[in-house]
Amino acid sequence: MKYIDIHTHPFKEYYDNPHNVVKEWYKENMELMFVNGTSKSDCLELLELCKKEKYLYPIIGIHPTECSGKSDGEFLESIITKDVIGIGEIGLDYHYDNSPSKETQKESFKAQLDVALKHNIVAVLHIRDALEDAFEIITLPKYKNLKMIFHSFSGDIEYAKKCLKYANLYFSFSGVVTFKNAKSLQEALQVISIDRIFCETDTPYLAPTPMRGKPNISPYVEHIYKYIANAKNIKEEELVKQIRDNVKKVFGV
Ligand SMILES: [Zn+2]
Repeated sequence: MKYIDIHTHPFKEYYDNPHNVVKEWYKENMELMFVNGTSKSDCLELLELCKKEKYLYPIIGIHPTECSGKSDGEFLESIITKDVIGIGEIGLDYHYDNSPSKETQKESFKAQLDVALKHNIVAVLHIRDALEDAFEIITLPKYKNLKMIFHSFSGDIEYAKKCLKYANLYFSFSGVVTFKNAKSLQEALQVISIDRIFCETDTPYLAPTPMRGKPNISPYVEHIYKYIANAKNIKEEELVKQIRDNVKKVFGV
């Protein structure tokens, strides 16, 4: 079976030769990989990398812990190309004390959502310990037709239900959903229909069970598909086909 990983970071920061690494992953079991940016430098790096292989697609964005406000939107405008299929990972992250202020994060988030809106491409959301503030922003009327995906969704069943009322919101599950202690996330998964779901690794982080503790790689996305198919009581083939359709519908590739 061939899989799609919508969120991976094959960067020089982690690998001596990212191009060789993604070629290995592709051969192993991948159909497509979407490389997500977090900083100015890795956005530039990933645009170059994605030119090299037809199965790689670029998603550019400034992570909330790396953000500097409104100017992040201008930066993205200055580097965006017709190959870019999304803006991410962008959002709010209140986990660390030394991150940019909440105000700066919100300004940056909105400016980058506006880039996605202008170019009519998907927004890939990184939301950590900030689900309520994020909800206020993503449900602003101006964004009602902007497709958005929670990367490594971390909400509970109530939050999922609230978001499901907005037809433009989607949920991407990382290895976290396979963890024993992720009961509230697993409950949320049960109420989300498979036409609103994606699978991702967030490589090199968050390796799924049974690879937990190892550095993650995109081919391990297989374990997330298997977990979700099992949890939804459907065949893995069915989930793979559904997510292929979701990718076509939401990203257009
Ligand atoms: Zn990420």
